[in-house]
Parts: sequence; C-alpha cells; structure tokens
Amino acid sequence: MKSFLISTLLLIAVAAGAQNTKVVAHRGYWDTPDNAQNSLTALKTAQDIPVYGSEFDVNMTADGVMVVSHGPKLESIPDVQKATYKEVKKVRLKNGEKVPTLKQYLKQGKKGDIKLIFELKVHPAGERENEAVRKSVEMVKKMKLEDKVEFISFSLEACRQLAQMMPGCMVQYLNGKIPPKELKDMGIMGLDYHYSNFEQHPEWVKEAHNLGMIVNVWTVNKEEMMQKMIGLGVDFITTDAPEKALELIDNKK
Ligand code: MG
Repeated sequence: MKSFLISTLLLIAVAAGAQNTKVVAHRGYWDTPDNAQNSLTALKTAQDIPVYGSEFDVNMTADGVMVVSHGPKLESIPDVQKATYKEVKKVRLKNGEKVPTLKQYLKQGKKGDIKLIFELKVHPAGERENEAVRKSVEMVKKMKLEDKVEFISFSLEACRQLAQMMPGCMVQYLNGKIPPKELKDMGIMGLDYHYSNFEQHPEWVKEAHNLGMIVNVWTVNKEEMMQKMIGLGVDFITTDAPEKALELIDNKK
C-alpha cells in the first residue's frame, strides 16, 4: 500500500512537472511595435506578461564597461568588445533607444517581478573573461539582485566561476555538448541547450532532473518544437514568441 502511494505521488509529481514548463523571453519581449532586442523597452514589455524571466546579453567594452548587447557586431561597430563605451553610447538601436549599460538594465529589472536571465557572452579566456565575470557578480551583489538573476553562458569557465562565486544562484551552460552528470560534477546545476541537442539526447532531460538539475532550451519559436520540448518535460523554454508559448502551456492545463 505504502509503495503504491509513493509511486502514485511520484506519478502526480512527474505529470505536474510536465505541465510546469515556464517561459523565458529571448532578448526581452522585443517583437512588438517600436521595440528592439536587448532594449530597456523589450525588458519592460516582458515584465508586463506572465513569463518566468527575460533573457539578455552582456558584453564588456574595451574600456571595461558592461553593456547589454548581443554583439559582436553592434550596428556600425564591428565588435562591441573592442569598442570604447564612448563609441557604444553613440549607437542607436532599431527603435531609437541607446544601448543600455548593465547597470541601467538591472535597475529596470529590479522594478519587475520576473527573473533576469543574464547571458555573459564569451570573452577572451584569461584576464578579460575573469574581469567580465568579476564585474557581473559585483554589480548583481551591489544591486541586491542575487534572488532575481540567473546566469547563462557559452563559456564553461565563466559558468564554473559564476557557480563558485554565487553559490545560491542558478547557472546554466549553453553549449549543448556536455551530459548533465559531467556538468554537475563541475558545480554547474543547469543546462540550457539548443533544442537539437535534446532531440538527439531526449534522455538528458530526465537525467538532469534525477540529478536535481534544471533544464532550459533555446531558442524555440515554432509551435511544433514547443510542443515537443514541453512533452520532454523541460523546465523552461526560451523563445522569441513568449505569448505563443504561454498560450500553448495554458491550453495544456
Ligand atoms: Mg543570448
């Protein structure tokens, strides 16, 4: 009887988990009028819909200023990491806004309830990367946003450092080739992989969950793939179409 109860409860938990996929707006919710990717407006728009979080990209300029921009190319600037902040400041995004500094972006992030999914872009390994990691952590701590920020990066070394420096903070590795157990052994408790990696390794979702890890998937814009990933039981879907994903998940409830 007892084991029957336990397995029933487990089944309920798994079923609930499958329906609990949450949505992350990729580069903010930018696909609306007068908006632009990684702009303050895109963050504000995401804060107005019931997403779990809003993702954004962070690069460090040549003179050490953390800015929110995907890079490397930024309008007329070929590589944002090689430009000075003075140069970046002159750039206007597609909707006429300035490129936000990380500080300005986090300030707006603090005003909303949603999580801030902070992608630290890859910087040259060594001193530049260490500086970018250090500055990211310092700013998050200074602004008391430890509970609101989750880090993602294609740099395994940056993920390792971030997980070590901010033990309570979720860190997810983006580069799709490492099985969950190996990541966990490095102290990284989340994987955020391209959906093709989960098509190739659907078992990684369960493996990660069994290890107490979380699973995010990028960048899922087509309804069919959203359904497939929700079916696999991923915890988060990162998408350019957050309202479509929210609707799909709502319809499953
Ligand atoms: Mg990104």
